[in-house]
Amino acid sequence: MKLVLSANNLSKTYNARGTSHVAVAGISLNLHAGEILGLLGPNGAGKTTMAKMISGLVCPDQGTVEICGANPFRKPSTLRNVGVVLEGNRNLYWKLTPAENLEYFGVLRGLSAREARTRADHYLNRFGLSKKKKVLVEALSRGMQQKVAICAALLHEPTLLLLDEPTLGLDIESLEDVKTIIQNLAAENRAIVLTTHQLDVAQAVTTRTAIMKQGKIIAEENTSDLLKRFSGDSYVIEMVDPVAANLSSDLQNAGCMIENRRISFHGDNTSIWKILGKVDTLPIERFYKDKADLAGVFMKLTKG
Ligand code: ATP
Repeated sequence: MKLVLSANNLSKTYNARGTSHVAVAGISLNLHAGEILGLLGPNGAGKTTMAKMISGLVCPDQGTVEICGANPFRKPSTLRNVGVVLEGNRNLYWKLTPAENLEYFGVLRGLSAREARTRADHYLNRFGLSKKKKVLVEALSRGMQQKVAICAALLHEPTLLLLDEPTLGLDIESLEDVKTIIQNLAAENRAIVLTTHQLDVAQAVTTRTAIMKQGKIIAEENTSDLLKRFSGDSYVIEMVDPVAANLSSDLQNAGCMIENRRISFHGDNTSIWKILGKVDTLPIERFYKDKADLAGVFMKLTKG
């Protein structure tokens, strides 16, 4: 797959009111077409600074960025390959309609007005917003505004898309829509950097996860490998009713831990059958292998 982003040893220190603060301390990252990288981290970890250095909005003190093989700080036209949706509601003009916003941003990105209108119609249609194209942005729902902001970032067909908290404050339906949009855009061979605090969203859509803490990357791995690495090898059987005392001691003797209706067993996939045999006449609510989620992994890594 084509290498879209290569960040090498990026650093940024902010100096404000006589004090200096290291926001990013020597981060290197590579991102290929089709990948969705979740850039995660607690507040102040340096995610936005990192995203701004990649998108040419903040100049790094040290290190280099290459997008599709060129350095945007040396060759600004390289930024034509980048689309950005910033956090919050500063991406669009609220007193303009989606059609007007998209024509404006399209022309700003070097398209002719006609081309901008054609592409705007294409994306508004694709994201189910055609009927809203002449409604003022301020009168649209948060989910619709977010989708228009994504349209604006896509007008010039960027290869790299940076999305900062794109699903914040969305209802379930809009959230699912935006998740699908992100996955479809990656399937079209765009590389996507997603910064978010919504770890369930990151878990659902990212192919790779980078966790930042105090300006450094403390873990970077394929999301599925990271989850596998932190998943336990215990099984959980949730019974419909509390486990009776005599059964409980029998299960404990066999190596189980019992908490009311919950039986957990640390073992392999043959020894679990002996345990299941002991409860096979009783109603079971749920039976599953213990699996890590990104929220748990995040807590372990960032608090550790
Ligand atoms: P959040 O999750 O809260 O958005 P973040 O991981 O995106 O945080 P950044 O916004 O990159 O973190 O900030 C990293 C650090 O740099 C923070 O301590 C922040 O206060 C500081 N910082 C960010 N922008 C500036 C600025 N323009 N001037 C001074 N300090 C800044």
